[in-house]
Amino acid sequence: MDRGGKLIVFSAPSGSGKTTIVRHLLKQEVLNLAFSISATSREPRDHEKDGADYYFMSLKEFKQHIKNGDFLEWEEVYRDSFYGTLKSEVERLWAEGKNVIFDIDVVGGLRIKKKFPKETLAVFVKPPSVDELKIRLKKRKTESDEKINMRIAKASIEMATAPQFDRIILNDDLEKALKEAEALVAEHIAKNPTEDSHERA
Ligand code: 5GP
Repeated sequence: MDRGGKLIVFSAPSGSGKTTIVRHLLKQEVLNLAFSISATSREPRDHEKDGADYYFMSLKEFKQHIKNGDFLEWEEVYRDSFYGTLKSEVERLWAEGKNVIFDIDVVGGLRIKKKFPKETLAVFVKPPSVDELKIRLKKRKTESDEKINMRIAKASIEMATAPQFDRIILNDDLEKALKEAEALVAEHIAKNPTEDSHERA
C-alpha cells in the first residue's frame, strides 16, 4: 500500500467512551480527519447505516475478503463477530488527502501501529474502572446482559495492553479527555513523518 496521510488509532474496551472522543475529533476541521469505516459480520443495530457506521456483510462474505487478502487487519472480536479494516478503505481516504482515524479493538489497533509505525499515533482510552464500564454499558442498553458480560470479561484483558500504546487517555472527565485527545492528535499531525515515532506516555 502506498503511504499517504497520518493514521490515528483509538482503541479501548467497549464502553470506555472512545467513540464519543472519535466523533468529537472528526468535527475539528483543522485536523482534516476521516473515519475509517470497518467491515463487520455482526448485525446492524437499529440506528446504524451500512456504508456509514460499518460495511455490514455476511460471515461468508467476510471470510472471502480474508482469503483474498483484502484486510489491513481483521479480528474475531467476539465469537462469530468479525471486524476488520479493508485496505481499500484506507486507500480511499488517503486518496482524498485525509488523515485517517480508527475506532477499533486493541489487537487491531496495535497491528496498524506495527504496519505503519511512523504514520500511526495509537491512543488507548482508559475507563476509570471495570465497574464503571459495566454501569456505562448497562445504561447504553444496546446489548443483552449476556453480551454485556462478554464485553466486561474482554475489557480486563484489553486493559492490560494499555502500556503498548503511544499514549493513554484516562476518561474520568469527558471534557478533559476531549481536550487531551485534540491536543495529542494535533501534535501528531503537525509532526514530520520522518521523525521518530512516539515515545510511550
Ligand atoms: P461494536 O460491536 O460495539 O461496534 O464494536 C465492537 C468492537 O470491535 C469495538 O471494540 C470496536 O472498536 C471493534 N472494531 C470495530 N471495527 C474494527 C476493525 O476494523 N478491526 C478491529 N480489529 N476491531 C474493530
